[in-house]
Amino acid sequence: MLRVAIVGSGPAGVYAAGALSQHGDTTIDVFDRLPCPYGLVRYGVAPDHPKIKSISLTLRKLLEDPAVRFLGNVEIGEQLTLDDLRRHYDAVIFSQGSAVDRRLGIPGEDLPGSYSATEFVAWYSAHPDAPIDSFVLDARSVAVIGVGNVAVDVARILAKTADDLRPTDLPDHVLAVLERSRVEDVYVIGRRGPAQAKFTTLELRELGEVENIDVLVDPADLELDEVSRKVVESEPMMRRNLEVMTEWAHRVPRGRPRRLHLRFLLRPVEILGPDRVTGLVVERTKLDPTGHAIGTGELSTIETQLVFRSVGYRGVPLPDLPFDERSGIVPNAGGRVLRNGGAMPGVYVAGWIKRGPTGVIGTNKRDANETVAALLADLPALPAAPVRDPDAVINVLAERGVRVVTWTGWRAIEQVEAALGQAQGRDRIKIADREELLRAAADGHAGG
Ligand code: NAP
Repeated sequence: MLRVAIVGSGPAGVYAAGALSQHGDTTIDVFDRLPCPYGLVRYGVAPDHPKIKSISLTLRKLLEDPAVRFLGNVEIGEQLTLDDLRRHYDAVIFSQGSAVDRRLGIPGEDLPGSYSATEFVAWYSAHPDAPIDSFVLDARSVAVIGVGNVAVDVARILAKTADDLRPTDLPDHVLAVLERSRVEDVYVIGRRGPAQAKFTTLELRELGEVENIDVLVDPADLELDEVSRKVVESEPMMRRNLEVMTEWAHRVPRGRPRRLHLRFLLRPVEILGPDRVTGLVVERTKLDPTGHAIGTGELSTIETQLVFRSVGYRGVPLPDLPFDERSGIVPNAGGRVLRNGGAMPGVYVAGWIKRGPTGVIGTNKRDANETVAALLADLPALPAAPVRDPDAVINVLAERGVRVVTWTGWRAIEQVEAALGQAQGRDRIKIADREELLRAAADGHAGG
C-alpha cells in the first residue's frame, strides 16, 4: 500500500489526489492549513463567478474518494515537519500555492490606503487570516495596478453594488462595507499596452455588463505600435480583447453612478500621501522592440485615496524545502523537487508553487498529472516510510494539540454556512472567523 501526503487542498493538490487514487492500493492524506478545503476556489475565485466556483463539486468528489482523507487546520512546517511526513508517508506532494503578493518596489507602497489585491480578495472571500475590519471603502477614487484577471475581479467587486452581490456567499460584514462604499471612480492601470494585458476576454467583457458603471477607454490608448500589431495578429485572445475595448472606447458614457477607467502604458512611480494615500504618480511608457515597457519621463498624477497592487502572487518558502527567491517557486523538474541540482527522493510539487501563479484552474489538472506520473515512475526507488499505521499521524497531531478538521468536520461547517444563508433566503453565507469554523467542525465531529 502506497501512502502519500499532499500539502494543500486547492485544485492542484486535489487533482493530484484524484490522479493517485486511480493508481489503486494507495492512501492519500490531503492536508490544509485552513479548516476548509479547495484553496483559491473557496478563497480566490470571485463570489459572483458561481460557474467557476462550481469546480468545488468536482474537487469534492475527488476528496470523497475512499482512498483520500482530508486533514484541515494542520500547518505543515509548523505542526508537522517534512521529517514527520517522511516518517509516515512514502511520498509528499507540496501544492500549497503562492500565498503572498508581489511588491512594486516604489515609494509610498506601505502607506495606509495602499494594499495588495490579495488582502482585498482574502477579506471579501472570508479568509480566516483577513481581519473583518480590513476595509471601509470611504475612498471616492481607487487605483488598481495591473491588468490581469485578479485586477478585473477587484475592479468588478468595487464597481458592483451590495445588492448586485447579495445573492452570493459574501459574509454580512463585507456586504455592509460595500453598501456604504463611496467609490465613484476605479482606475485599472496597465504598464504596457492593451495588446499585452493579461486578462482573458470573458472576464474583460463582463466588466462592460455591470449595470452600475460606465467603462471608459481612451481611443488613443488603443493605437497599436508595431510590436503590439504583431501580437494582435498572432494571438486571437489579444485580438478579441482589443475588439471589446474598442467597442467601449466608442460608447457614449451614460452617467452611471460609478466609472471604470481602463488605462494603459502607465507605469506606477510613487504612491503619494503625507500619512495616507492621496494620489498615484504614473509615468507614460512606450514599448521597446521586445515588448517591455520603458519610461518616457512624462509624469502625471491620478488622484486616489486607495491603491490596490494587483501585480501577481509569489510562493512562500517552507521550512526544509529549497526555494528560488527570484521566481518565488520551489525548484523542480517536472514536479520532482530539486536540491543542489539533484532530486529529493519522495518529495514533489504541483500547482503554483511548482510553476508560478499562471493559468486557469484546469491548468492544474495537467500540472498535477505530470507530478503524479513522475512520482509513480520513481516508486521502485523510493524508500518506504517506517510508520505504516494511518492513525499514527492523527495521534501525533493530537499529542501536539492540533484541532484537526476532518471531512466530517468540513461537512458540518458547510451545513452551518447553508443554515446562515437560509435564514436570509440565500444559498450560503461564508464564515470568516477561524474559531467559529473550528467550533462548527467540532460539533460535526462530536455528532458524526
Ligand atoms: P497576472 O495575470 O500575472 O497579471 C499581473 C499583472 O500585473 C500584469 O498586467 C503585469 O503586467 C502587472 N505587473 C506586474 N508587475 C508590475 C509592476 N511592477 N508594475 C505594474 N504592473 C505590473 O496575475 P493575476 O492577475 O494575479 O492572476 C494570477 C493568475 O490567476 C492568472 O493566471 C489569472 O488568469 C488567474 N486568475 C483567473 C481568474 C479567472 O479565470 N476568472 C480570476 C483571477 C485570477 P506585465 O504583463 O507588464 O508584467
